[in-house]
Amino acid sequence: MLHIGCHLSAAKGYTNMAKQALSINADTFAFFTRNPRGGKAKDIDEKDIETFLAIAKENNFAKIVAHAPYTVNPCSADQKTRDFAKMILEDDLKRMEYTPGNYYNFHPGSHVGQGVEKGIEIIAETLNLVMFPEQTTTVLLEGMAGKGSEVGSRFEELRAIIDRVSLSSKVGVCLDTCHLNDAGYDIVNSLDEVLDEFDRVVGLSRLKAVHINDSKNPFASHKDRHAPIGEGHIGTEAFERIVNHEALKGLPFILETPHEELSAYGEEIRILRNLCK
Ligand code: FE
Ligand code: FE
Ligand code: ZN
Repeated sequence: MLHIGCHLSAAKGYTNMAKQALSINADTFAFFTRNPRGGKAKDIDEKDIETFLAIAKENNFAKIVAHAPYTVNPCSADQKTRDFAKMILEDDLKRMEYTPGNYYNFHPGSHVGQGVEKGIEIIAETLNLVMFPEQTTTVLLEGMAGKGSEVGSRFEELRAIIDRVSLSSKVGVCLDTCHLNDAGYDIVNSLDEVLDEFDRVVGLSRLKAVHINDSKNPFASHKDRHAPIGEGHIGTEAFERIVNHEALKGLPFILETPHEELSAYGEEIRILRNLCK
């Protein structure tokens, strides 16, 4: 059973997202916790959450994968940007507890000239400030494409961040197929080897979610431009191996492909479910 969904608009609340998901045969979803500029998040409506939790349970939803705004950069060279990142992460992690036990995904950030080592240090430091022992949310570091000075495009970097976090049992990884391709992990020709390497360096037990996107750019391009499934350099055959891989079984797969209409995601979900053996 493939758990799959896409990014949904959170504007009308959780119940509405669950209904959107059901309408396209999804059983998980992602959403941005607030607008990209990091504005105020929508007020929590406990009644809405209660209804959502009931729908999710009744329909055997997998864990949902909330996404921090793109503008969050905990390892920026600029103090204001770092403070902003800390504020957003802290507030989001508190709010995530209204839907206990789910995933909160964020981009580790860009070190903008300070160096990877320094970046890794500040990211971990920030997580140590915002995570709390009672939290039931697992924080997911997203593996990146290695565009500019992005931290986290190498498995070793993700591992180094995790090693520095005190509550590391509450930290996992979300791998993005477009980012893997662009970072130079050959998931098209050597999926087994890539996942073995991830297991050696980070540990497969840390892998909690997959962003399933094709890539507009060739292998190792360090670009990060998502393409619809089957229309990029990864291709449908590789996705067939990905959705059927033993090491990825049971994980929530989230589409972040470029479409305007919900129905287009429904169509990709149908295609990917059909690839499942
Ligand atoms: Fe992302
Ligand atoms: Fe992603
Ligand atoms: Zn991306």
